[in-house]
Amino acid sequence: MRSRYVVGLGANIGQPEHALLAALIALEADGRTRIRARSSLYRSAPIESAGPDFLNAVIEIDSELCPRELLERLQSIERAAGRERPYRNAPRTLDLDLLLAGDRVIEEEGLSVPHPRMHQRAFVMRPLLELLPDVDIPGRGRASALLAGCADQRIERMGAFGQADTASPPNRIEARQTGTRQS
Ligand code: AMP
Repeated sequence: MRSRYVVGLGANIGQPEHALLAALIALEADGRTRIRARSSLYRSAPIESAGPDFLNAVIEIDSELCPRELLERLQSIERAAGRERPYRNAPRTLDLDLLLAGDRVIEEEGLSVPHPRMHQRAFVMRPLLELLPDVDIPGRGRASALLAGCADQRIERMGAFGQADTASPPNRIEARQTGTRQS
């Protein structure tokens, strides 16, 4: 059975855009996960973190993986991208967060869904609302109503994620085949 998930991507050292694109390819490589849509690429100020600005995006996926398996897969992709955790919120070559698992609420050791801080972060909320304007965050409410709570955080839309056409709307991958699609 396939489940619908939303994943947040971020990077601020190394080659951030390359790392985010490589993560999309890695995620689909097991043949059990399909990327349905991706937001534009955003640039954001580090929040509780250090170093240069981050590049961020949000993707919507269908996957045969259960939430725990998906988290492990995200962490293994982070590790492959050279991510180290020398201290909490260190600059990162790749950060992948499991934001939403449909309307499920999960509170387990090492796995909280919805991601507990997502509604406080403009770098999640702005791309999320671009992709899914009517989405609810289980336990918190309508995402559009929560955006005001992080309106003071610096973030700007850079353009399409992985495409030259910077004016395009959120990229529905079924409709518009791109070079990053693996299936
Ligand atoms: P970070 O260093 O910000 O990537 O946080 C990673 C830690 O958060 C790991 O210990 C994960 O087990 C834990 N975690 C809990 N819930 C989530 C989630 N929904 N997505 C990603 N990491 C999570």
